[in-house]
Amino acid sequence: MKRVQLTLRGRVQGVGCRPFIYRLAHTHRLTGQVRNDVRGVLIEIQGPSAAVAAFVDELRDRSLDGYPALLDIVELASEKKPVKPGESAFMIASSDAAGDPVSQVTADAATCGDCLRELFEPADFRYHYPFINCTRCGPRYSIIKSIPYDRPNTTMADFAMCVKCQGQYRDVEDRRFHAQPVACPACGPQITLLDAAGRVLETETDRVLAVCAKLLRDGKIAAIKGIGGFHLAVDATDDAAVRRLRQRKHRDAKPFAMMAATLEEIRKHSVVGAEEERLLTSAASPIVLLDKKETNAIAPLVAFGTNRFGFMLPYAPLHHLLFSEPGIDVLVMTSANLADEPLICDNEQALEELDIVADVFLMHNRQIYRQLDDSVMHVVSGRPSFLRRARGYVPSPIYRARPAKREIFAAGPDLKNTFCFVKDDQFIVSEHIGDLADSRVYQHYVRSVAHLAELFQVRPQIVACDLHPGYLSTYFAAQMKDVRLVPIQHHWAHAASVLADAGKDGPIIALIADGTGYGTDGAIWGCECLIASLTEFERVGHLQYYPLAGGDKASKEAIRPLLGLLSPEDIDRSTGILTAIEPDANKLDLICTQIEKGLNTVQTSSLGRLFDAAAALIGVGASNRFEAELPIALESIAAKGVNEAHPVELVESEGALQWCFRPILMGLLDDLQKKTAAPVMAAKFHNSVASGLLELAKAARQRGGINEAALSGGVFCNRYLAERMIRLLQDEGFAVLWKKAVPVNDGGISLGQAAIAAALCEKSLRED
Ligand SMILES: [Zn+2]
Ligand SMILES: [Zn+2]
Ligand SMILES: [Zn+2]
Repeated sequence: MKRVQLTLRGRVQGVGCRPFIYRLAHTHRLTGQVRNDVRGVLIEIQGPSAAVAAFVDELRDRSLDGYPALLDIVELASEKKPVKPGESAFMIASSDAAGDPVSQVTADAATCGDCLRELFEPADFRYHYPFINCTRCGPRYSIIKSIPYDRPNTTMADFAMCVKCQGQYRDVEDRRFHAQPVACPACGPQITLLDAAGRVLETETDRVLAVCAKLLRDGKIAAIKGIGGFHLAVDATDDAAVRRLRQRKHRDAKPFAMMAATLEEIRKHSVVGAEEERLLTSAASPIVLLDKKETNAIAPLVAFGTNRFGFMLPYAPLHHLLFSEPGIDVLVMTSANLADEPLICDNEQALEELDIVADVFLMHNRQIYRQLDDSVMHVVSGRPSFLRRARGYVPSPIYRARPAKREIFAAGPDLKNTFCFVKDDQFIVSEHIGDLADSRVYQHYVRSVAHLAELFQVRPQIVACDLHPGYLSTYFAAQMKDVRLVPIQHHWAHAASVLADAGKDGPIIALIADGTGYGTDGAIWGCECLIASLTEFERVGHLQYYPLAGGDKASKEAIRPLLGLLSPEDIDRSTGILTAIEPDANKLDLICTQIEKGLNTVQTSSLGRLFDAAAALIGVGASNRFEAELPIALESIAAKGVNEAHPVELVESEGALQWCFRPILMGLLDDLQKKTAAPVMAAKFHNSVASGLLELAKAARQRGGINEAALSGGVFCNRYLAERMIRLLQDEGFAVLWKKAVPVNDGGISLGQAAIAAALCEKSLRED
């Protein structure tokens, strides 16, 4: 006989963990108890040694039948206890009142297999019920107002459970034991179909779905309320319908994401590898970027200028029902917002603002409390990588090696903002908030910081922010009371985000391939090679500075960086090429004068703008109508199997290695003259960037004796570049760090800021 106490940490509360343990204990005829406590779940079990050992093994055996899909045991601590004679049963004990706020709030999860079966089982009392859920699936984070995570603190408080639902909720043997959003047609939320004027068309579930499906088949645009907000939906195979959506939404070029009925349907249009399949079918159910098949039935207007489609599978019961209607196979499902404003999640707001876009509204009366975009991922060198982290992943924490000495808030950057809290040994990174320059996004940011600080019970004493004095996030951080402010250089934060992601302190070599970030010398940094730890960094090298004229326009019009990168003689010689990019000769002169006189011009090492300039030279376009349009277009034409690159030239100047861009530009102009095919030129350009970064890494290794290379920065969203970079570094014997938990773009900055602030705090306490 043996008795042990097990402490489980990770995603263990509110996911059906206790009933699972209860059943497992019964299977092995063990006695004892299980309960939620402050740190997670606490178990005591007693029985023959072999049975206890088998129980512990099966706790982590995901292949086990009935293993809770959302249960994620990050840590399992075991301690021997004295045997209690006479104990005869295993029970679920009442929980400690004060739980760990973080482990109580879990991410929203896609409808599980069991709920799906019931959804389409005519005999089930939740047959065709669009809000079916259980402890293994359903809304969580999107409906929570405050903790503890109990129904009265969620937007389900408006719905009183019926006797049948209550019975399941209270039955420890049931899959819905303590499933807070449990509901059924008799007691829960309902769907309605309205027209653009807000008039009710249908209220009976099957009629709502049938009529909505018919309108979609007829090419109409539907606003559909989901888990984290509204989507605008249209038949993705209907070019005229997609064109109408683009016109009404004023979205000319940015690709639309799609939702398809099944994996098989997605496979008709794009290539799905094993890792992509795993992501698509996971409980998080993100949008996954997939290579297009040459022949596919998707309307060309859905995603042009890119060789990939963004696909997701139905993740809410409402989606499953809609996609079970005849002829609904693949829909554009794009976030319902206007321009760069926050996602719309409120019924009244949707009717007010989307009436000019949508023909029909598929609504429901369960309130969305936290608006959440769909997460976006792709697979890089066989590894799942975030492009946007939101629904399905937030608020799962990222663990630190040790508890932080202070609670910390990291304000994040202004573009692709996320923010982050540090509490105990956890980093809690917010969902994608957006670009703070839009006043409604900024308001949403301010509200979100307050809501999450309350939700996770964080009272920050230290506040980290970007070094940029003009950032709104910096302004927000600076006005917080009674805190110590820690401004952090943008690319150092990029490097630190990789360290935090890997649970390391550094130093490492950090190769940052980025758009722009404010540098310690007042210049706009972008392409940087740092030796960085969480407490300090050294700038080993960078892309040579070039003048960039025109403020905000500089990131849109490729002619601006191009004129900054070329010398006056090159410009004289290349007039034909330049007027093809910008036909207005006066404008060309004006930009040249601006650069010459340094008017409205910054010095920059931006790699993003070098990509814009190269894309324009190679002829893929002249402006970014949406962020990174030109680099994406350039990547998608890059020929496979090309290994050539333009020469790399590094020169030492002002204490740092300067990577000269001139050989790349001269190489491009040379190739243009030789009429080299654009796909080959695009590949050579990418290869040259990878070679330059590799040489910087090798120089840093020689200087610092460090062999670990971390990659971060928005330009690494480029899969061609990222995969080539990883391969080149590995071939040279580097150990490559690539982020798992946050995006390589600015969505990861807040994690880096938080990690640096926590480490600096520990260091200063040590020194005191
Ligand atoms: Zn379920
Ligand atoms: Zn009910
Ligand atoms: Zn950045």
